[in-house]
Amino acid sequence: MRIKSLIAIGVLFSIILTASCKKNPDTTETEKKSGYQGQGKSPIVPTVDKPVQKQWKGVWAFNDSTIFFSNKFEGARLNGVAYDGDDHYSIWITAENTPINVSPWYAFQVWSKEPRDITVQLNYQDSRSRYYPKISVDGRNFKPLDSTNFKAINPGEDDFGIKAAPESAELTISVNENPTWITAQELYTSSVVKEWVDSLSLKPFIENYPIGLSKEKRTMHLMEIKENEDAKKALMIISRQHPPEVTGFLAMKSFIETISSDSQLAKEFRHEHTVFVVPLMNPDGADNGHWRHNMGGIDLNRDWQNFNQPETRNVRDFLVAKDKDYEFVFGADFHSTWDDIYYPIDTTVTGEKGKIIFDWIENISERLPQKRTNISASDEIDPTMVSSKYFYVHHGMPAIVFELGDNTSRPFLKEKGKVAAEEIMKLLMEQ
Ligand SMILES: [Zn+2]
Repeated sequence: MRIKSLIAIGVLFSIILTASCKKNPDTTETEKKSGYQGQGKSPIVPTVDKPVQKQWKGVWAFNDSTIFFSNKFEGARLNGVAYDGDDHYSIWITAENTPINVSPWYAFQVWSKEPRDITVQLNYQDSRSRYYPKISVDGRNFKPLDSTNFKAINPGEDDFGIKAAPESAELTISVNENPTWITAQELYTSSVVKEWVDSLSLKPFIENYPIGLSKEKRTMHLMEIKENEDAKKALMIISRQHPPEVTGFLAMKSFIETISSDSQLAKEFRHEHTVFVVPLMNPDGADNGHWRHNMGGIDLNRDWQNFNQPETRNVRDFLVAKDKDYEFVFGADFHSTWDDIYYPIDTTVTGEKGKIIFDWIENISERLPQKRTNISASDEIDPTMVSSKYFYVHHGMPAIVFELGDNTSRPFLKEKGKVAAEEIMKLLMEQ
C-alpha cells in the first residue's frame, strides 16, 4: 500500500513537472507559429548505391502451432516476433538500411486456430511509433484500429515530428483462423497501384505504358492523359518516391481522377493540356515494405542532381524526350509528412512564372478553410537534388512538393486532391 501511494505521488509530481516545463517563458502564444512548419534544408547526400538488407520472409508459429504471424505478401514488413506469455507478443520492425528518415513502416498478418484476443507490442529500430495502425480482413479495405484496442507506451511530447509519437504501441487484436492484416497505412503495392492505373486507362483518352525498370526490375508505369493530339501544354505528376507516404498517393489519385473526369472544366482543360503521371516512383520500396529507400538503398528524392538510380533516370529520360514536343507548364510531386504542408520554390527564384503556384495554394486554401496549411518556400535550386527543383530548372515548369499529413482524414485527402485539380485547371486555362 505504502509503495503504491508513493508511486502515485511520484506520478502526480512528474505530471505537474512536465506541465510546468512545457511552458516556455520566452515564447508567448501570439509569437508562436502554429501548425507544422516543415523540415529545414535537405543536406546534400551521395546517392550511389548502398547495401540494403532484404527482410527474411516466412511464417512465425507459436504455442504448438496455434498462432501465426506472416510477412509473406507484397508490402509486408515484419522483422522478428517473440512470445512473451499470456497471449502477449513482441514484434520488431527494422529499416532496410541506415541512416534513414524515421518512417517506420510495418505490415503483417496474424491468425489463430481458435478465436482469441492477443496483444502485440510494436518495437522499432531507432524510431518511435509514427503510424497509427490500420486493420483489414481482406488486405484491401483498411480502417484505423479501434482506439480501445490501442495503447501508446511512453507517449510523445511535441506537436509534430518523431518526438510527438509514442515510443512504442501495444495493440489488442481479436484473431481467428482467417488472417488479419495490421499495417502502418493502407496497402498500395505495385499490383494495387497498377489495378488503379489500368482501370482509369479504360477511358478512351488515357493510356499507360512502361518507362523503364526499377533496380529490382519492376516495371515503372506512366499514365498519359491526352484527349487532343494538339494539346502541347504538359503537366508532370509523380508520387510515392517514399513508400510509406500513402496519404500523398491518395491525394494524387483524387487529383488525377478529377482531371480525368467528365466535368465541363476537365474536358475543356484536356483540350489544351496533356498530363503525364508516374503514380509509383519506388515500386521496389513499396513491395519490399521499405521505410524510405529504393533497392539501391537511396532516398530517390535526393537523386535528381546526379541520377545514380534507375527510377529517377527513367523519369529524367522521359522528360528530356517529351520536352522536344511539349511545353511543361506545371509539375507536382506528392508526399506525406507530419501534417499537410506546401513546399514551393520561392518567386525570388522563379519570378512571375512561379507565381501560379502561390495563386493556386491561395485558391485551394480559400475553398478548404477548415484546414490551415503552412507554406515553406525554398529559394535554393542548386543542386537540384529533389524532383520539384529538377522539374523547374531543367524543364521550366513551376513545380511543388505537395505534402499531406500521415493522419489527415481520408475523405479530406480526397476532397483536397479534387479541389487542387480544379483550381490548377482553372489557373492554367486563364494563362
Ligand atoms: Zn516524402
